[in-house]
Amino acid sequence: MKKLIYLDNNATTPVRPEVVEVMDFCHTECFGNPSTVYSFGRNAKRVMDESREKIARMIDASKDEIVFTSGGTEADNLAVFGIAKANKDKGKHIITSKIEHHAVINSCKALEKDGFEITYLDVDKYGIVNLEQLERTIKKETILISIMHANNEIGTIEPIAEIGKIAKKHKIYFHSDTVQSIGKINVDVKEMNLDMISISSHKLYGPKGIGCLYVKKGTRIKPILYGGEQEHHLRAGTENVPGIAGFGRAMELAVTETDKENKRLTRLRDMLQEGLAKRIMHIIFNGHPTERLPGTLNCAIQFIEGESLILKLDDLGICASTGSACSSASLEPSHVLMAIGLPHEIAHGSLRLSLGRDTTDEDIDYVLDVLPKAVEELRAFSPLYKEFLKKGK
Ligand SMILES: *Cc1c(COP(=O)(O)O)cnc(C)c1O
Repeated sequence: MKKLIYLDNNATTPVRPEVVEVMDFCHTECFGNPSTVYSFGRNAKRVMDESREKIARMIDASKDEIVFTSGGTEADNLAVFGIAKANKDKGKHIITSKIEHHAVINSCKALEKDGFEITYLDVDKYGIVNLEQLERTIKKETILISIMHANNEIGTIEPIAEIGKIAKKHKIYFHSDTVQSIGKINVDVKEMNLDMISISSHKLYGPKGIGCLYVKKGTRIKPILYGGEQEHHLRAGTENVPGIAGFGRAMELAVTETDKENKRLTRLRDMLQEGLAKRIMHIIFNGHPTERLPGTLNCAIQFIEGESLILKLDDLGICASTGSACSSASLEPSHVLMAIGLPHEIAHGSLRLSLGRDTTDEDIDYVLDVLPKAVEELRAFSPLYKEFLKKGK
């Protein structure tokens, strides 16, 4: 069988064997409900608490500041709706950016229907949010600033510590979606003045369907799910104990290995970028040249359709993505590529290659061998490309 080269690690990651091991143990040996009082249930609770403590330690928080959720999407929803509900008496203005994940953008859009005012900050051509605009739009009704740490499509890293300072100065709650940054770059909630961050396990080699929201002690926030008293009254429902145990192990490993993996992936990513730049004409690289996640490479290849290229790469055993996994079902170009000012027709030829733990030098060599050929073949059928060549002469 042909080897599968998985270059879509920003969409999801494979579960590490060490994580499978702890989850298997939980599934068979500690299936008790952590809310029960007998020892078997208490065992489940102990496993859960250990995991909570590990996760807290990895971001410089304490364990009662971790609220387990069903993943990054729910954590983002809890941050936005939870703060909105608990602080609407103070004001109904929220500041976010144009390049947030849909879990934040669509939560904000829903609040707009409820009379909230949302400012969607612009970004520059690299995807960095405009800090002057941020300071300018803050008003006394502003209750929340939500800016992601690193963008899932183009990998751009936002100046989170600086935004944290601004939020603190104005006494406004600051949430950051750190789903893409944890395990790739350093995250410290104290140093960055963060009140809330969202984390998702399946983006860091843990299982799907589990994640958490860090909520700083003293934050005024209300739940979005009602039921039992789990998770400090902030998230009702019997806890996903095996998921939580796996998430804790994955998080511990990912954060401990961040520096080493960051260096390795940066080298491979740069090799890939330089190779493609050399072998493909009319290619544009998106995202910030240096303030960018180590394994993310987003490019726009002119005169081709991103979708067609993805299918061709699939035939060659390469998994990649156009702009964003979440929007590949729609024909609209990605909101992130629009926000950085890419023209429609160029955005349509966008390709995201996101490297991960399993990516090797050989994988990069193979991609550099077959991807330029695939582009050439697609361009041979492109009327736009023919026209362009004619004009050039
Ligand atoms: C994947 C992702 C999410 C959603 O997390 P899920 O656990 O899949 O719900 C949110 N934000 C960002 C930046 C992501 O990349």
